[in-house]
Amino acid sequence: MTAFDLTPPTDAERRAITAGLSGDERRVLLEHGTEAAFCGVFLDNKKDGIYTCRFCGLPLFRSNAKFDSGTGWPSFFKPFAELHIKRVRDASYGMVRVEEVCARCGSHLGHVFPDGPRPTGERHCLNSVSLGFTPTGETLPDVLKRGAPEGAPDTEV
Ligand SMILES: [Zn+2]
Repeated sequence: MTAFDLTPPTDAERRAITAGLSGDERRVLLEHGTEAAFCGVFLDNKKDGIYTCRFCGLPLFRSNAKFDSGTGWPSFFKPFAELHIKRVRDASYGMVRVEEVCARCGSHLGHVFPDGPRPTGERHCLNSVSLGFTPTGETLPDVLKRGAPEGAPDTEV
């Protein structure tokens, strides 16, 4: 279940958003790149709030699911909603991994590994550059102009 509209962005919306991305953001979000470890802006973010898709603004993770994995990338043990992420088999670089992408826009987020903490046992290993952050009580992004719950303050604690 999700209150969010998961209809993919139109081609025109994609072009407009892509035009506003930095080179690093494009490389990671659109070309499945990985940022350098220990460099991401959200690695040590301890604030309460919601991490959203850098491309389309969809909520992806809550701060209460963030943990220090020691890997150098922001890590979460569960997504905001399972429907908000899509898991894709990734056999690149001679490894079989599970890539995760935004379920709405398809942007690359990171990978999911089976060595996380309880209760899920999952480690969602994210690129900071794939994420935005909205502190608790502040207004969620509404990149695609879909309206509430986007563009409204997050009320759940
Ligand atoms: Zn997205």
